[in-house]
Amino acid sequence: TEAQLRQSQRMEAVGQLTGGVAHDFNNLLTVIIGNIDDLLEDRSERDPATSQLRMALKAAERAAELTQRLLAFSRKQALDPRAVDINGLLGQLEPLVQRTMGDAIDIVFILDKAIDRAMVDAGQLESALLNLAINALHAMPEGGKLTIETSMAYLDRDYAGSRLEVAEGHYICISVTDTGSGMTPDVLERVFEPFFTTKPAGLGTGLGLSMAYGFVKQSKGHISIYSEPAMGTTVRIYLPRARVEGVEARQLPEAVAVPTG
Ligand code: ADP
Repeated sequence: TEAQLRQSQRMEAVGQLTGGVAHDFNNLLTVIIGNIDDLLEDRSERDPATSQLRMALKAAERAAELTQRLLAFSRKQALDPRAVDINGLLGQLEPLVQRTMGDAIDIVFILDKAIDRAMVDAGQLESALLNLAINALHAMPEGGKLTIETSMAYLDRDYAGSRLEVAEGHYICISVTDTGSGMTPDVLERVFEPFFTTKPAGLGTGLGLSMAYGFVKQSKGHISIYSEPAMGTTVRIYLPRARVEGVEARQLPEAVAVPTG
């Protein structure tokens, strides 16, 4: 559709623009970080410059992280898709999610033991999920509940009408639900736009969901968002099932489950 075309043109333009700048910027940051590191070496804790240097280092490291993300975004970072045990990946991610969300937020994992492996880049999936968790955290400043759930899902032609850009069949669905502020329709309409953010500078870059979108599309998956103001938000990521010994997983009879380790 026209909206999709505009979205991909926009992503491409931003990608080209950021790629060049991010690359140079990354080199400069390496110099900055290296020099601060040198200055911090053997410096006494009592030296008043120490804490200032630490703060400078922290900021530079955050900038480097952001630059890395920009680079990944612009070069459509080569994905390394493998058959990934999604429940296992979420289990490993749980402590980090707990720490990120803090005490004010209840975290519930509902992992469907019957799901197959998904064909996906595990590292990219982790960073997409963390981004979703951080968005949820920002949407629940007074606390709330985060639910991360896995399930099998069948996407057919009717799913999301003609917007469906994925092959019909079975997918592994990871949904991330918060009980936060939710989004108004006009915000919801723009969330996948690169650099669209409603957050104050320093808190948001406006890249989280556009990167998640790019990553999921590249993975031949699908992403959808349901949100209602004052009620909360659910982001669903659908990932293709992994092939089993060269056979397309969705061609297997329903009874054959891939062991999830
Ligand atoms: P960022 O989080 O840096 O602003 P994103 O692309 O991740 O960038 O999100 C874009 C915008 O979408 C956010 O600024 C926010 O307004 C809205 N948004 C994203 N996730 C949520 C959520 N879980 N609840 C409410 N609003 C959200």
